[in-house]
Amino acid sequence: MFENLSERLSGVFDRLTKQGALSEEDVKTALREVRVALLEADVSLPVAREFVKAVQERATGQAVTKSVTPGQQVVKIVHDELVHVLTGDDDPGALKIDNAPAPILMVGLQGSGKTTTTAKLAKRLKEKNGKRVLMASLDTNRPAAMEQLAILGAQIGVDTLPIVKGETAVQIAKRAKQQAMLGGYDVYMLDTAGRLHIDDVLMDEVQAVRDVATPRETLLVVDGLTGQDAVNVASEFDGKVGISGVVLTRMDGDGRGGAALSMRAVTGKPIRFVGLGEKMDAIEEFHPERIAGRILG
Ligand code: GDP
Repeated sequence: MFENLSERLSGVFDRLTKQGALSEEDVKTALREVRVALLEADVSLPVAREFVKAVQERATGQAVTKSVTPGQQVVKIVHDELVHVLTGDDDPGALKIDNAPAPILMVGLQGSGKTTTTAKLAKRLKEKNGKRVLMASLDTNRPAAMEQLAILGAQIGVDTLPIVKGETAVQIAKRAKQQAMLGGYDVYMLDTAGRLHIDDVLMDEVQAVRDVATPRETLLVVDGLTGQDAVNVASEFDGKVGISGVVLTRMDGDGRGGAALSMRAVTGKPIRFVGLGEKMDAIEEFHPERIAGRILG
């Protein structure tokens, strides 16, 4: 188990206070603990370094050394800074879906939870926003994935584009757009193919689909348990396709959420939703405070 950062810092300060007044050197010792805790929570080293620097600046301005509970004071500063870095849009869950039919492009690696997340968001749009949603699977390599979306659609009462064998992803995207217009849908969601790793073929296809669909939102679905890999995936997709936000899945697992911090710091793109399980309701808007609490332990 991870040691709780708050306890760890209290430990450090307990040792220090026994030796008399706190010095800047003491604060540095505490910040080293903060850095270790961040690394243990899967935050990447450059991001952790940058973060600690920002905390140090805040801490020196806030008379931590004179505080009776310096440990608590540092924890609070760390918490506030985490929330500061993690905060993206004012309203992360508000998707841009005006000008019907609004296309939403779902991208990500295979196994990240893309199809599940597409259905979860469709259900949310239908129930919370009263939108008529059409979903289409563009995964021409994996018929099972196309069927999976159709099954989920039937389960949540959201229409899916009928499957036509032999079409390319771009053809499906065009047909989805047409169907969305003719059928009076508010939103259509394109669940693109994923591969196990990023490669040129995948990126070319996603770019081609993006160019015909001109999505209002391009949401990258990444597995929140994959740590640094998730951050690399986010940088790649953002560089090649351009994303408007991230959905972190498997946040019901025991990952510490450090990937969220790294991803936000590295790509500058907001985390919009988190996936919290396999069920269709297991998704919620991103709350920076919750992840901050999780990283702090
Ligand atoms: P895709 O290949 O990216 O489309 O991935 P899928 O949507 O098929 O999901 C792969 C597996 O992950 C399925 O068994 C999902 O039920 C599961 N999954 C998706 N999102 C979550 C999540 O937030 N938490 C958990 N625990 N499982 C998830």
